[in-house]
Amino acid sequence: MDYYSKAINQLIEEFSRLPGIGAKSAQRLAFHVIHMPKEQVEHFAETLVEARNNVRYCESCFTLTDQEHCPICRSPKRDHSVIMVVESTRDLAAYEKTGKFEGVYHVLHGAISPMLGVGPADIRIKELLVRLQKEDVKEVIIATNSSLEGEATAMYISRLIKPAGIKTTRIASGVPVGGDLEYIDEVTLTRALDGRIEL
Ligand code: ZN
Repeated sequence: MDYYSKAINQLIEEFSRLPGIGAKSAQRLAFHVIHMPKEQVEHFAETLVEARNNVRYCESCFTLTDQEHCPICRSPKRDHSVIMVVESTRDLAAYEKTGKFEGVYHVLHGAISPMLGVGPADIRIKELLVRLQKEDVKEVIIATNSSLEGEATAMYISRLIKPAGIKTTRIASGVPVGGDLEYIDEVTLTRALDGRIEL
């Protein structure tokens, strides 16, 4: 790509590092940025840096937030005795969009996968157990994906917490096997939640 100047090439390279951005899209984005008003580009750059600097894990549920505790954990309107365990902040957002869940969440940031070398200690399971000891929890709804890894994780967690006498449920099928929660429509998610079964 010698026909572009160094600065343009560098910009294209940065964009092409982003997930889902191929060479063509990277070029298109780079030229789009170059044609944007200067102030807009500055604002965009500042927003990126600020987000990266300020976003951290909620100390209670481990979702991504910019405060010590996320808005859901801080809300007195939520039922703090029901915890839904999800794999990612995006899955949390998918359930929030349904507007049907009134409890709180616990975000694992991954799922157990022996193939990828991800063990129980690599995701936020220990933090969940600590939470269950400290808080008065009536039900844990395991809403990991219905992939092999998601199922293995659900199994592992239920084995750990059932002996403590806490009601443990798993969201129902209706969520397609191998399906990522974040791509499933709200009706299906609500149905999966309503039809959850006790483990
Ligand atoms: Zn939280």
